[in-house]
Amino acid sequence: MSEEKKCRLCGKPFLANKYRPNQTICSSLECQYQRQLENMKQWRDRNPQYFKYKESQDSSWKETCRQRSLEWRKRHMDYLKLYREEHRERHRNYMRDYMRQYRKQKGIGEIKEGKTA
Ligand SMILES: [Zn+2]
Repeated sequence: MSEEKKCRLCGKPFLANKYRPNQTICSSLECQYQRQLENMKQWRDRNPQYFKYKESQDSSWKETCRQRSLEWRKRHMDYLKLYREEHRERHRNYMRDYMRQYRKQKGIGEIKEGKTA
């Protein structure tokens, strides 16, 4: 025989399933959903490591990480490229000035200029 009980969540009377006499929640979708949430939360509280592990194993999470690092790299590559171009320009200027100075010191520049003039 089924025993009439009061739902723990909505307070409505319900007939307990004879196979599950300890049932405290009615079979309404709302209450069952609520019960599932509770179960999940309890389970998660009991297994805090599982989700960390799961997250690190989960491919979509990995994909998110990969995407993030790619975006980071792209951002920084742009920055690096700018930096390198700027640096190359600076280096070129530096070398040009250095060579000019070098030629002047050796008298090459004057000779060359004198020859071409
Ligand atoms: Zn209920």
